[in-house]
Amino acid sequence: MLDKLVLATLPYVPRPVMRRLASRYIAGEKLEEALAKLADLARRGYPGILDILGEHVADADAARAAARSYAQAAAAVANAKLDAYVSVKPTHLGLLLDEELCLHLYSGLATRCREIGLRVRVEMEDHPTTDATLRVFEALRKSFDNVGIVLQSRLLRTPADIDALTPGPLDVRLVKGIYLEPATIAHVDPEPIRAAYVVCARRLLVRGARLGFATHDDGLAERCLLEVRAADAAPDRYEFQVLLGVREELWARWKDAGHTVRVYVPFGPEWRAYSQRRLRKNPQILRHVMRDALGLGPSK
Ligand code: FAD
Repeated sequence: MLDKLVLATLPYVPRPVMRRLASRYIAGEKLEEALAKLADLARRGYPGILDILGEHVADADAARAAARSYAQAAAAVANAKLDAYVSVKPTHLGLLLDEELCLHLYSGLATRCREIGLRVRVEMEDHPTTDATLRVFEALRKSFDNVGIVLQSRLLRTPADIDALTPGPLDVRLVKGIYLEPATIAHVDPEPIRAAYVVCARRLLVRGARLGFATHDDGLAERCLLEVRAADAAPDRYEFQVLLGVREELWARWKDAGHTVRVYVPFGPEWRAYSQRRLRKNPQILRHVMRDALGLGPSK
């Protein structure tokens, strides 16, 4: 009820207030602000991931413009000698408008990034995009060794998707999945989503993948570390990945224990529309933000 009320009033929240709420999670509107945040994190011992906020572009020109912004951001990261890579939503590069164009734009970005020593991550969005995203990723894998994918443990299909990926080096960010999906195709309760996450982690470790455990769920992280040990995976085979502003005490604990912790740094002029869309699609995020703002600690 409270979620619904807050969501309904979101468009009327004054920009400066929204900006203040978002500032903890978003580096800013400009590339310079994101670079400054990455540099600050690097000084504190955290490598980064750079994300330009945006999705579901309206036309091919907007997709091309997004790809150009990413290429520019990647070049700036390389110039600044930061340990960071770029992470791109397929619908930001026009996946649902024209799959060929999307593949072409990812290929151009991956080529540029390969020249300057950066990785590119193909993110995973909601289920109507899963098949096309996996097709684009598989096509990219044929020509590039600097491209990784995101897989979502929430989706029932994911273990089969892992098995269906062609053999060869594989770089996966494993997430629970931020999009609330129907129960016919997804786990909907927290524990089955966690159990599926562990199953996927195990399968990926067995097939030799490099893994980013992208979670702030410390219990789940412990279970993943048991899998890492059982697979006898070297420390460079996995890392933790976290969102800017979320559970920093956990990052420090993991870093102090010797694990790599990479921080996801989103930025861009579209931050307001993007934040509102995300909150509307998954009110759980709003609950997390509200608990944080009120100093109530993590929800279980
Ligand atoms: P949860 O149980 O949701 O969270 C554990 C605890 O962390 C919560 O109790 C809360 O205290 C805190 N928390 C979690 N999220 C927030 C938040 N937003 N604000 C404040 N507190 C919070 N999903 C995709 O579907 N596709 C992607 O490409 C994708 N990329 C991601 C990249 C990174 C680096 C990360 C960390 C996540 C990404 N996600 C992506 C989101 C992911 O799927 C989950 O929705 C998100 O990480 C929350 O799940 P959790 O595992 O942290 O567990």
